[in-house]
Amino acid sequence: MLKRIPKFLAIALVVGSFVNVSFAQQKPQPKPASQPKPTTAQQQPKPAPSPAKPPMRPPSSGASDAMFKKITDTILSQFWSWNPTWATTVGNHRYDEFVDVPSKSKIGGKLINYRNWLKTVELFSNKDLSPSVRMDYNIMRNQLKYAIWQLDTFQSYKWNPSEYNLGQAFDLTLSNPNKRLHDKVQLVNMRLAYIPQYYAAAQQNLDRPTKEHLDLAIQQINGSLEVFDKIIPDSLAKLTDEPLKAGVTEQLGKATQAIKRYVKFLEDYKKSPTSQYRDFRIGKEMYDRKFDYELQSRYTAVQIYERALIRKKQIQEEMQKLTTKLWSKYYGKQPMPTGIAAVQKMIDTLSAQHCKREDFMDCIKTMLPKQEAFLKDKDLLTPDPTKPLVVRVTPPYMEGSGAGASINDPGPYDPNGKTYYNVSLLTGYTPEQAESFLREYNDYILQILNIHEAIPGHYTQLVYANRSPSIIKSVFGNGAMIEGWAVYTERMMLEEGYGPATDEMWLMYYKWHLRSVMNTILDYSIQCLNMNEADAKKLMVNEGFQQQAEADGKWKRATLSQVQLCYYFTGFTEIYDLRDELKKKQGDKFNLKDFHEKFLSYGSAPVKYIREAMLADVADKP
Ligand code: ZN
Ligand code: ZN
Repeated sequence: MLKRIPKFLAIALVVGSFVNVSFAQQKPQPKPASQPKPTTAQQQPKPAPSPAKPPMRPPSSGASDAMFKKITDTILSQFWSWNPTWATTVGNHRYDEFVDVPSKSKIGGKLINYRNWLKTVELFSNKDLSPSVRMDYNIMRNQLKYAIWQLDTFQSYKWNPSEYNLGQAFDLTLSNPNKRLHDKVQLVNMRLAYIPQYYAAAQQNLDRPTKEHLDLAIQQINGSLEVFDKIIPDSLAKLTDEPLKAGVTEQLGKATQAIKRYVKFLEDYKKSPTSQYRDFRIGKEMYDRKFDYELQSRYTAVQIYERALIRKKQIQEEMQKLTTKLWSKYYGKQPMPTGIAAVQKMIDTLSAQHCKREDFMDCIKTMLPKQEAFLKDKDLLTPDPTKPLVVRVTPPYMEGSGAGASINDPGPYDPNGKTYYNVSLLTGYTPEQAESFLREYNDYILQILNIHEAIPGHYTQLVYANRSPSIIKSVFGNGAMIEGWAVYTERMMLEEGYGPATDEMWLMYYKWHLRSVMNTILDYSIQCLNMNEADAKKLMVNEGFQQQAEADGKWKRATLSQVQLCYYFTGFTEIYDLRDELKKKQGDKFNLKDFHEKFLSYGSAPVKYIREAMLADVADKP
């Protein structure tokens, strides 16, 4: 999983995840007109201003690429002024003094703006633009439609109280490496002043939450208190400006109280016998729409679901074959059980090779240089030594989503920011749960996890995306492309012999890969076909060879997100299909490194658009 905008944290679920381009590449733009003055405890904070503007008209038909870029740059900077905390999470620190209070009027204002921006974008015609800008046009249009749909139809701001979490926005404001601590604390001071009205609005918005999102909100928003109780005070301690320190301390007190009031409100809601809830399942109609907006795939949700069912069967057959080959090596003359029981037994045996709980992080750290060396030796991609990956413990406000490890990048506007590899310390796990988790992430699978999350998966893809010359492709990163790439690299590395790629490694790879396939089957079945918890877990354990802890975590995730679990298999399928298509077309001229670097050069765009561009490119060359 890639955690760029932690999906459960940000109100920003709106447009999916984001990727890059240096903010410096944009022209400096004026700050919003009625910028609030530094707020003291007494002053009422003003919301980030940005009046709705009528659509701008391009000069004539045949509007140029340049005009499109200029107008979308303006739209983007307005977009960020309306979504300042989201802006922070993508590394755009221009609006760090603001918080977008989720009041009814603010949400209405966003809708008016989004609709106007969409009209503006649609004044351009797809066919008047060059291929690369056409890609931007399609992405931008889709994202604005999606943002509108999120607010006027999907409306998770009413039923997902965990969206109201400011922990990360404050943490990132303070960890911005490009500003002095004193300046950052002043921004924090201004931001803190919004918190009471922010949570008052959040409370007003609550309308029949799901039980699952309510529980998550209580856990994560409590977790976010660490930022206010510890991280901010620690920064204050390093300052000598006593009046500022006193001001922030006072604001901090009020902010913390407001957060605790909100958590208490949620806890009371949970305790009250008359509280009403909605099903976490969004149903087929919403699901299909969300799938189309979010994945922008060549395939529909049901097509991908059906392909996943076929793939599941193929993988299970491959696993049977490998088990048959390996059997005597591990069990000698012992008779082999029939069916998937033999595969299960083989996996159990291999899973016993895993690192100790207390060494989990060290195990991950020592594998990374080996992977980088392999890339160089096999000439698969060019790594960038100037962008180091920092391995760290998952921050508490990000815990609870069931992921063992995830990448957390600095975002598109912060090319100098650090990319973190968050590793869970398995806190809150009983010894049995930890053992189950570690068997799942055994010595084989942990290597594949590292390929996926780090090298040459998410981390490498991000480094490339950060060089992409298109702001839109970079900023509105496509989740299916991003996850699809990571899943693709797992297989590609093994095809090249990484691991080493023994039968054991392949067997474990298939078990892991089956998870991507199962994610799709599960998500669709749970959300659209009403699959229940018991059946979902049975499917994961019996047919997906998953450990109980993994199945429990996945069920939890499936109740908290929708369509996200389809990113993996959908993106993988599209990338792998594209590679086959190009191999056929190019024959002897096909080169794996060229394919990888060309593919990544488009930034995190939907694979269907990258495919069009790459096929056109090949067609142009004799
Ligand atoms: Zn991932
Ligand atoms: Zn063990």
